[in-house]
Formats: sequence, structure tokens, C-alpha cells
Amino acid sequence: MVKHEWVSPDASRFASAWSDLAGIGRDHRRGGYSRHGFDDADLHSRAWFVEQAQRRGLDVETDRNGNLWAWWGEPGVGAVVTGSHLDSVPGGGAFDGPLGVVSALLAVDELKVRGVAPARPFAVACFVEEEGGRFGLPCLGSRLLTGAVDPDAVRRLHDPDGVSLADAAARAGVDPAGMGPDPARLAGIGTFLELHVEQGRLLRAADPTAAVAVGSEIVAHGRWRFTVTGQGNHAGTTAAADRRDPMIPAAAIVPAARRAMQRFQGAVATVGRIVPVPGGTNVIAFSVQVWLDARYGDTASTAALVDAITADVRLEAEAEGCTVVVQRESLSDRVVFDPALGVSLSERLGVPIVPTGAGHDAGVLAAHVPSAMLFVRNPTGISHAPEEHAETADCLVGVTALADCLADLLL
Ligand SMILES: [Zn+2]
Repeated sequence: MVKHEWVSPDASRFASAWSDLAGIGRDHRRGGYSRHGFDDADLHSRAWFVEQAQRRGLDVETDRNGNLWAWWGEPGVGAVVTGSHLDSVPGGGAFDGPLGVVSALLAVDELKVRGVAPARPFAVACFVEEEGGRFGLPCLGSRLLTGAVDPDAVRRLHDPDGVSLADAAARAGVDPAGMGPDPARLAGIGTFLELHVEQGRLLRAADPTAAVAVGSEIVAHGRWRFTVTGQGNHAGTTAAADRRDPMIPAAAIVPAARRAMQRFQGAVATVGRIVPVPGGTNVIAFSVQVWLDARYGDTASTAALVDAITADVRLEAEAEGCTVVVQRESLSDRVVFDPALGVSLSERLGVPIVPTGAGHDAGVLAAHVPSAMLFVRNPTGISHAPEEHAETADCLVGVTALADCLADLLL
């Protein structure tokens, strides 16, 4: 006999949305997901979003920067907007981004069940390339929207295969010439609320019983590219004294970053990508590119952290007869979310308020619009990796919490 377990309508809708997305952008080489701005997996997940939104009677539009907006009723001023992103880091987890989008769609269902008729314009938004996994610039869609980045510089960005962002956008049906600040759209947003899987475990430390928390702030964070140049040569015939091997100072960036974490309390600094050129086993590289991700307090503190790492690396480079050029690819200052909004959401939900070291579109929008975040508990804290996880029961608490907050905001 087949046993039928009772599943709540919320749980079955969540499972169905989740299983749709589960097949899109799987990365069989790295594990997890690789969905990057305007690539095939991204276009597939964007099509999924459009279909889901239309199924709920929402009107979907693509803005000049490729961000998707699904409106419940007419767009207008003072809009309540919720949403997140569908792209991932290379080999990322299932929840980072999609959880906020799926939860937003399910919150629409929940509001309809509750008979809430929005008294203000309301939209679910999906922002382009939040992770910067393809073109290197995180929060690309929200930065373009808010004017936080020069659109000419963005159009010139290239992915590792040499495809320009302009060409990738055009292929996705977004006119690259039109990309840039969208002040009218931005001025129309009254409140932005992003639900996201927690990345870390501060929630558990704040309240071991809470499945959800409200975000308070994001520390300053940025990316730097170190180009170390030496002399390309033969691995078999070049004596130690004759070598100017850029891999020596390049490799030194890794322990220098770890030492800086010990010296600057609370700072984090990571090397996640090293590319030797030309990159042959029997070749002393001509140059090595190393990307450093650093996060600490405000921009001045983060700059001091990177300066300390750079100073160490320059000494190593000098000893090896190499040169180092450091280019800042992005830097976002510390963001404090709207304190009054955060406190009211925390009191409404009876949940703690916690900071995060992860960047988000809500952090970019917060400079212009009252913004807030909800974090859903992540048992291991692992994120940006295939093991990233949130329990379904916690995700459903997140949907209810999001619906509760939206119901209040839409009054
Ligand atoms: Zn995210």
C-alpha cells in the first residue's frame, strides 16, 4: 500500500519551484551550479522566472540593464520591491539568490491566499550578474541601475572567453547602448526587501531557535587584481639564480592575506583565483594574475588591509626581480540598512538582527532606497559551494516572514 504524507500547499509549491530550478545550470565539472550573467543557464533561469511570474498574473518587463521586474498591478511611485538574483558563483550552491526569488514568488501566492490587495505598486525583481561570476563586477545589474558604475566601462568588460558584456547583453535581447543609470525607475522604489540564505552562522550565534533574521549591515568589500610579471623561461634549463619567476611573489599573496587576517581583527582576505600566463607545466610563467577578495569594516579599513598585503608582495617581487601592478576591480563601502525599517521588521517577526560579510543587491540599493534583508538559517554556514543548504521548513518560515513584512509594507 502506498502511504500518502500530507504536504502543505506552501511546501508543495516550494518543492515544485525548487525542482524546476534544480536542473538549470548544473556544473558537472565543479559540482553545484554555474549560472552567469546572460549565459545559457542564466537565460534559461530568466525564462523560468518570466513563466512563473506570468502564471501568477504578474506583468514582466526587462529594464534597460537587463534586470527583470514582475509587477503585481501597475508600476508606480512608492513601490514595494522584493527579489534577489538567479546567477551563481562558479560551482555555487542552489540557494544563494534563487531562494530570494522563489520566496518572493511564493510570498505573492501567500498574499493572495490572505486576500491582501496591494495598496502600493509591488514588484518582484531579479538582478543581473549579482555574483560577478562572468564579467568580474558583482552586483552588476543593481550598480548599473543606481549609476554606481560607468556604463562605458561595463560595456567593455570581457568574460574569460573574450566575449564582451555588450555582445552577451545583445544576445540576451538587451540593447547594450541603453545600459546605464535608470533614475526614474530608482525613484519609483519606495522600499526594497531581499530575502537571502544566510552565508555564515551569525544567526545561530544570535538566537539558536530562530530560522530567520533581519540584516543590519554589510561590511566593506572589494576585489583586487595583482599582475606579477617576471621572465618566461624553460623549467628544465633555467638555474635558480637566473630565474625571475612571477609565481614566487604571486604565491606569496596567499600567506600574506592570511597574515593580514591575523593582524586586522575581524578582516577576511582570500585568494580564490590564480592564472599563470602562459600556463604550462614545463614553463616558468611570464606573468601571473591573482585575484584578492578583501572585506573589512569600511573602505578605509579595507584599503589598509590590502595595502598591508601589497607591501608584503612587493618585497617578495623585488627579491625575485619581478614587478607587481595592483588594480582595484571593485570596492563597496560598508552599508548599514535602514535602521528603523530593520527594527520594525525584527519586532514584527520576533527575530534577531545580524550583520553579514556578503555583498548583495540590497546593499547597492540601500544608498538610494530604504532597504532591508531577511536571512534564512544555513545550518553549516557554507555558501558559494555545492554544500550550501537551508532546510525546507526554514525556507517556508522565510516565505511566511517575507509575506508578513510585505503585507505590512503594502498597506
Ligand atoms: Zn546572493
